[in-house]
Amino acid sequence: MCPCLLFDNKKANALASLPFHDWKNLSTVVKRHLGDSHNASVAMSENFMDVMKEQKIQSFTDFLIRLKRLLKKICTF
Ligand SMILES: [Zn+2]
Repeated sequence: MCPCLLFDNKKANALASLPFHDWKNLSTVVKRHLGDSHNASVAMSENFMDVMKEQKIQSFTDFLIRLKRLLKKICTF
């Protein structure tokens, strides 16, 4: 799964947020996506996983609670 689905907060990233239908131009669309915010999303997902490991998440419920707190912080701009 592309981390942009969770970590790209730009609504313009259609590849991560909308169903894909333009199969004829897949290569061009993927190249453009990788040149945009994809790398930032990869970095954020890796940072998120590092934080989760440091906090030693004990259960999936604990994970969801912490994820909700993190998303509240990220989405308050
Ligand atoms: Zn991506």
